[in-house]
Amino acid sequence: MERRKTRTISVGGVGIGGSNPVRVQSMCNTDTRDVAATAAQVRQLAEAGCEIVRLAVPDMKAARALEAIRFQSPVPLIADIHFDYRLALASLDAGMDGLRINPGNIGGEDKVDAVVRAAADQGAPIRIGVNGGSLDKTLLAKYGGPTPEAMVESAMEHIALLEARDFHQTKISLKSSSVLTTVRAYELLAEKVDYPLHIGITEAGTLVRGAVKSSVGLGILLWQGLGDTLRVSLTHDPVAEPGVAWEILRSLGLRQRGPEIVSCPTCGRTEIDLIGLADKVEEALRGVDEVFTVAVMGCVVNGPGEAREADIGIAGGRGLGMIFKKGEVIRKVKGDANLLPEFMKEIDAFLQERRNN
Ligand code: SF4
Repeated sequence: MERRKTRTISVGGVGIGGSNPVRVQSMCNTDTRDVAATAAQVRQLAEAGCEIVRLAVPDMKAARALEAIRFQSPVPLIADIHFDYRLALASLDAGMDGLRINPGNIGGEDKVDAVVRAAADQGAPIRIGVNGGSLDKTLLAKYGGPTPEAMVESAMEHIALLEARDFHQTKISLKSSSVLTTVRAYELLAEKVDYPLHIGITEAGTLVRGAVKSSVGLGILLWQGLGDTLRVSLTHDPVAEPGVAWEILRSLGLRQRGPEIVSCPTCGRTEIDLIGLADKVEEALRGVDEVFTVAVMGCVVNGPGEAREADIGIAGGRGLGMIFKKGEVIRKVKGDANLLPEFMKEIDAFLQERRNN
């Protein structure tokens, strides 16, 4: 998979584009005016693997809260601004690391001048975020709807405003709730510009639907080498978003973070509560950053063999479990209640041994 060659930008020290890895980001859904709640969610998102977090800045009170939130944040923050250039200036004053703002929508050349100058002075990049649902009427009429071509033309108009001011610390997103429209839009834009792309499927839906739609759309783009940072948008607790994003990157061999948990789908041979056990193992390993493969299998006869590639695994039978490494059984555990604690002890020992070597 060859990544598209792009310019490099830096959001508060986190490089995007060029030879940087594809970055994971998300957005808080707390009220930005509530400093404690927003700072806490930023931390949760960072712990879940977000490298950049975006905050909505709907009014001046929210802008005034940013400084305290930024002070507490372990990762760079981006201010998401709609229309009001004063909020963009206040966000930069508060030390935000980047802006998401569409320069064509902020009310005139002098306002664009002011925002671009402040962003450039501070080294803060700007994301142009075109959304299929909010294209202007002229473009909708010209193209007969929110087509990929209409989205690209909108992006090019915003880009021209920044380039006219010699500003190139830009990344671009072209989001639609349609996977095919989104993919085509990014493909077209990638032929025209070399700015890094922020990819995502917007309004993707609830946890399962949204994760599937995002995986298909972002998977197609990433497979073509398109996409320098991604956000999975879910109608769900945002803290779930980075996990989905990391699984997309892992499944394409682009990046890895934390354990990969493989578990069998269960079948008529399953003799334990495998679904419960797999959930508990996943929960127990949350927050572990080391990369290794864990298998949780539903029968002692086929489990160790089927999960031969796993670094460590457990296969549960009736009243008995087998813990194995690379397909070789290393221990038998009696009693269903002992499976999880004994398995976790073996995982701890495995990680300790690996750290020592
Ligand atoms: Fe069925 Fe065993 Fe395979 Fe799980 S590991 S799917 S229980 S045969």
